[in-house]
Amino acid sequence: MSDCPTLLQRLRDAGLRPTTARIGILQVIQAAGACGVAADDVFRQMLLRGTRVSVSTVYRAIHQLEFLGVLLQGRSDHSLRTTYRLGPVAQQPVEVRMACRGCARSVALPGAQLRSEVERRAAEQGMQPAMGELVFQVDCLAPQTCRAGASVGRLAS
Ligand SMILES: [Zn+2]
Repeated sequence: MSDCPTLLQRLRDAGLRPTTARIGILQVIQAAGACGVAADDVFRQMLLRGTRVSVSTVYRAIHQLEFLGVLLQGRSDHSLRTTYRLGPVAQQPVEVRMACRGCARSVALPGAQLRSEVERRAAEQGMQPAMGELVFQVDCLAPQTCRAGASVGRLAS
């Protein structure tokens, strides 16, 4: 796993945990290059590599990776099958921000780590959220400058 830092980075940038299944999928798709590879061929090649994974896991992960822009869909020349190839490396990881409802100020948060953690906890409940931009809405309670803070500043001080 340590021999493919760019694939790991792609997963982290997308806010995904680098699971064995996801890394294996990206390795197969990377090896296929610009031609791309169909989902069932990804599954078959993973089995050949000795990765123990179910076909539904592979399909689910590929769809999620495509939704998040890690993979791009294509169509093979000689058949009508949908193929997948690696998308361009994201210039910036998808943003996670904390925004105040009172004064509309916001700060950027460590997106990759937060996304992995949210995803890990969701997975414990059997959820697989496909996350777009994440914004935590808060009342920042800055007493002088924030509408939310002004109303409760008395209590906070
Ligand atoms: Zn505020």
